[in-house]
Amino acid sequence: MRRPFIAANWKMNKTVPEAMDFIYSFLPSVEEVTDADIVIAPPFTALFGIAERLAGTNVRLSAQNVFYEEKGAFTGEVSPLMLVDVGCEYVLVGHSERRQYFGETDDIVNRKIRIAQKNGLNVIFCVGETLKERESGRTYNVLRTQTVNGLKDADVKKLVVAYEPVWAIGTGKTATPEQAQDAHKYIRNTLREVYPGDADSIRILYGGSVTPENVDSLMACADVDGALVGGASLKPDSFEKIVNFTRGN
Ligand code: PEP
Repeated sequence: MRRPFIAANWKMNKTVPEAMDFIYSFLPSVEEVTDADIVIAPPFTALFGIAERLAGTNVRLSAQNVFYEEKGAFTGEVSPLMLVDVGCEYVLVGHSERRQYFGETDDIVNRKIRIAQKNGLNVIFCVGETLKERESGRTYNVLRTQTVNGLKDADVKKLVVAYEPVWAIGTGKTATPEQAQDAHKYIRNTLREVYPGDADSIRILYGGSVTPENVDSLMACADVDGALVGGASLKPDSFEKIVNFTRGN
């Protein structure tokens, strides 16, 4: 049985005061949760303040992005050393919005994963197909290519994978539990090629319009080990309900 992993991706939302308000109201509602990993990925500007408030709690901090070098003349970028310094334990890499709007290729994703892990960060590695790719029967192929290329020489011990069908992100269209399970199973089989012997212990999260209403049916799937939540993580009460999804036996 893999330990559930529930992560919030706030994307480009919340000022520092808004982020702190969220944290003050959210923390008490999950302080009794001991059977799941809870992670929040705020924008860079809120990391420092939130890190101070999360110290000693059961909620961990993630960044939403990282650069693939440790330091130097890379104006506007943030290095893995800086993320560790500010209190991050995780970083999101390979999110479809980074691939789509910022041209991140599998090679860039792989460089980011390796440098993040080298500096002690755990990576939440996102993969997923577009609607066009799904409709043309290329879902498995895309998932396999992104997984194998992204994880070249990556460290299995510092890794969580997130399956995020691009057509389900921020659209209100969730994959059915059957579609999610099918993709997760395929990804797990692919992980067996990359990490023979370790694939069964890697958590695979589902992301794409997860809500308090649909989380239970998704989490009931054999290979769904958690959720990466965008829109529904912006309000403390809705994210708290997702963290407190109904546990099976
Ligand atoms: C995401 O951005 O990772 C995500 C899953 O967003 P949403 O929950 O809003 O679809």
